[in-house]
Amino acid sequence: MANKNKKQLPQASGAFKKAVEGVTVQGSSKVSSKRADDNYDVVIIGAGFAGAIAARELSKAGMRTLILEARERPGGRTFNADFNGARLEMGGTWIHWGQPHIWAEMRRYGLDVKESIGATPEKTNWVVNDKLIEGTSERNFEILGNAYKKFVDVDGQMGRTIFPQPFSPLLNNNYKKFDSLSLTERMKEIDLSDEERDVLSSLTAMCCHGDPDKAGFLDMLKWNANAYYDVGVMWDMCARYKIKTGTESLIQAILEDGSADLKLSTPVSEVRQDINGVQVTTALGSTYKANTVVVTLPLNIIKDVSFFPALAPPKLASSTLGHTGKGTKFFVLIKQKVGRWSASAPYPRRIVAAWSDYENEQGTTIVCFGPQGLVDITDRNDVQSALREILPGAEVLDVTGHDWATDPYAKGTWCWYNSNQFTDSLAALQGAEGRLHFASADSANGWRGFIDGAIESGLRASQEIKAKYVVENS
Ligand SMILES: Cc1cc2nc3c(=O)[nH]c(=O)nc-3n(C[C@H](O)[C@H](O)[C@H](O)COP(=O)(O)OP(=O)(O)OC[C@H]3O[C@@H](n4cnc5c(N)ncnc54)[C@H](O)[C@@H]3O)c2cc1C
Repeated sequence: MANKNKKQLPQASGAFKKAVEGVTVQGSSKVSSKRADDNYDVVIIGAGFAGAIAARELSKAGMRTLILEARERPGGRTFNADFNGARLEMGGTWIHWGQPHIWAEMRRYGLDVKESIGATPEKTNWVVNDKLIEGTSERNFEILGNAYKKFVDVDGQMGRTIFPQPFSPLLNNNYKKFDSLSLTERMKEIDLSDEERDVLSSLTAMCCHGDPDKAGFLDMLKWNANAYYDVGVMWDMCARYKIKTGTESLIQAILEDGSADLKLSTPVSEVRQDINGVQVTTALGSTYKANTVVVTLPLNIIKDVSFFPALAPPKLASSTLGHTGKGTKFFVLIKQKVGRWSASAPYPRRIVAAWSDYENEQGTTIVCFGPQGLVDITDRNDVQSALREILPGAEVLDVTGHDWATDPYAKGTWCWYNSNQFTDSLAALQGAEGRLHFASADSANGWRGFIDGAIESGLRASQEIKAKYVVENS
């Protein structure tokens, strides 16, 4: 029997919904779809932040640029959707002025931020030994701070010697001795009270958004270094400030600033390069030719596209392994006004972290994170029972979310490497192969796994190409 509480979840949004393959919906006004079979200087695969930035930079440098995007919208692992009168971030959300690449773009386009209210909570609930504690945020943060210090302080300097310059992660080899450790293994190395263990487990499960048995400890040291070796700063940088007008306003501004053609609903299936150039073939059989290509496919997707000649084995192996980010993020509207509230629960509870995002006349909208597949977000009753484990009495009015793990063009959420993947993958994923250049948040040096990292990588790839292009044409 059909469940009355089951609902359809948003799949796409915005002005790009009606795009079909072969129709150029954005780009230089001088360009029309007639140019579909022309040669381009550069084809960019993917219109997420990495692709949009590369497109802006290369088209501004005078290169004839085409973006081929599988989805019916740009933005990739970021998109906005309507929910009870508000516009929500279904994917990438929080940004910070300490993330230099995105902050430069925010300033460039005059955008501002607003806060998720529960990121600075007054009340916090946490689960210890399967029992819910309804306490103060100060106490919860004290427990977390103590546990976190034991966890990351591998060198008596809060991990500073491992990543002394976090945007140059391969600066020294100190990271190598921690790459084989999983989050779980590191947890076992240190002496934690039950309370510390369960509160820390929530944080690590939330950060890796997957299985802490597989997720590498090194990425925790990396986030820690990115956030100036301080868990409070890390929280502010990763969970508090979002773009007031939505990520859609930033990606739109970047795309409009350049003059690249953008073809939506155009999944690429094959990339073939030889000494004369690159031929890119779409799933429907159209072909585009270019001197060079920027591949911005997410790590978990690279393996799904055929490359001739085959990609370097470490790149392919890393994509086949994938990153650990496969968890859920969903929003719940509850009737109660809970104000500035947050909660944590250890892995593998159904919701490992949650906090209030905003409040309005309808109630409070809470953002929730958990392991993959433990809550059916199309079933209001299931969500309510999961939420009541951390917020007793919560009355769920509505739920929304996007299943990124089964999304064919993402197959995951944000990038967190498995143990050993850092050493094997980072440099390999960034490396150009002939006429192919690679950009992705999933292989950024700084805020890897973040919008900032996507922008950093798009800038790097476009610099590589500009350098080559200038040399070849001088
Ligand atoms: C739930 C969730 C929460 C997140 N929270 C945050 C956060 O709070 N802050 C933050 O900074 N980051 C966050 N992130 C991460 C951030 O959104 C991503 O790291 C970043 O947006 C990735 O950008 P990208 O351009 O590298 O990749 P993507 O955005 O994935 O772009 C790649 C593009 O390639 C396209 N593509 C895939 N296959 C093909 C194909 N065959 N042919 C053509 N195109 C193809 C995709 O459709 C996509 O548009 C979150 C991500 C998720 C999913």
